[in-house]
Amino acid sequence: MGELRVRFAPSPTGYLHIGGARTALFNYFFAKHSGGRFVLRIEDTDVERTIEDSADRMMESLKWLGLEWDEGPVVGGPAGPYQQSQRQELYQKYAQTLMDKGLAYKCYCTPEELEAEREQARLAKKAPRYSGRCRNLTQDPIRKFEEEGRRWAIRFRTPDEGYTVVDDLIRGEVSFANEEIADFIIMKSDGLPTYNFACVIDDWLMGITHVLRADEHISNTPRQMMLYRALMAPMPKFAHVPMILAPDRSKLSKRHGAQTVEEFRDKGYLPEAIVNYLALLGWTPPDATQELMSLEEMVELFDLSRVSSTAAVYDVKKLSWMNGQYIKQLDPEELMERLIPFIESAGLSTREHLAERKDWFREAVITMQERARTLEEMAENMAFYFRPPESYDEKGVKKHFAQPEVAGLLEKCVEVLSRMPEWTLEACDRAYTDLAQREGISRGKLIHPTRLALSGITFGPGLFDIMYVLGKDETISRLNTAIGFIKDNFE
Ligand code: GLU
Repeated sequence: MGELRVRFAPSPTGYLHIGGARTALFNYFFAKHSGGRFVLRIEDTDVERTIEDSADRMMESLKWLGLEWDEGPVVGGPAGPYQQSQRQELYQKYAQTLMDKGLAYKCYCTPEELEAEREQARLAKKAPRYSGRCRNLTQDPIRKFEEEGRRWAIRFRTPDEGYTVVDDLIRGEVSFANEEIADFIIMKSDGLPTYNFACVIDDWLMGITHVLRADEHISNTPRQMMLYRALMAPMPKFAHVPMILAPDRSKLSKRHGAQTVEEFRDKGYLPEAIVNYLALLGWTPPDATQELMSLEEMVELFDLSRVSSTAAVYDVKKLSWMNGQYIKQLDPEELMERLIPFIESAGLSTREHLAERKDWFREAVITMQERARTLEEMAENMAFYFRPPESYDEKGVKKHFAQPEVAGLLEKCVEVLSRMPEWTLEACDRAYTDLAQREGISRGKLIHPTRLALSGITFGPGLFDIMYVLGKDETISRLNTAIGFIKDNFE
């Protein structure tokens, strides 16, 4: 058996969405699992829908996810070029071959004529399909059309009878009646190929053995199979990956939040987490309880027979949870590096400044690591390390500041903390335990208002971690500010 070859073939009409990323991922897994090759092809023949830097950004996203392609744009390869806009001659050549064999023909129908046909079908409540009007044109009308200077497209002559059966590796057999499939256009009147034709020519010439793509293309597959037969090209195997639905089982759209890999990156999701999460949308590893897996592990375990044939439901909470797990596992140095852009864009500090206070930054990051779900959220939640709170959480104020004894208690905290000879986490902890005992109150009565005073919020790392990272002077200064605030408002 020859080498296994798969491809990911995005149309550069926007960003790389999570659906596309998952299709790319399954292709990547499938290729790497068998030592095959993962090809990237850019399907940019639809000039009107193509967006200028889209292909570059999609490639950027793929690389960021760790899905490097073995052949394709930038890296090249023996079956290039890998951009459809650079393969025009090939499509023209094979369209001509089909015409020479009588398997394709010129269609002179004008857009108005075709629209009238569709309208008729609508009125008759039938599915609109091409009537086959130009199928058997004789020389006379052809000459007439040519003289009129009519533009023509090339249509493929589809079989009239029988069935085309897609033997799908995920969905099993899916059968299509040939009479339902009208002669379809393979080359448009502007000389550009349609998707179905360019896709077949390329998959064939690029030696693709397995076509793994989104479910929405299944109705294209019988058309493509007809073309393979007509071209006498070896047929690849097909696998259609089920859709990803929103939590309410509707089609995923903007209103369901972030959709593109770039958006997830900008929100502080780690590529490892996205890859892991997307893999589990539709694929189940042999040990179904296993959730956290590296790219290498997934490559090792991946098997198409364990890809579900039903739609997967996307759940951002699960993704965030998983992202948190990956953040937790990161080496602090690595986490610091990845966090810096988010600290910068939150306006909290700069790379240079953080480099000068590296040890301090490491301590601060470590206190946040356990609970963080995304890097963006982590940066926002650690703002208090960089500047004193500008305000105090309202509910927190009612609960922890608004009682008559609080200012006095915080003054006592300041007193004991000021006297501490060395500023360690344990010493701060002990000082609070002793003070609570002396006052005959629970530690919480000291801890909650102190936390609010230091951070302005009611959640976050352990209080003594915060104190330690802020340092003695800053801790005392913030406590004094809070004491002033409480006296102004509640005494
Ligand atoms: N360019 C098509 C798309 O982005 C590719 C479909 C295929 O994989 O055949 O949907």
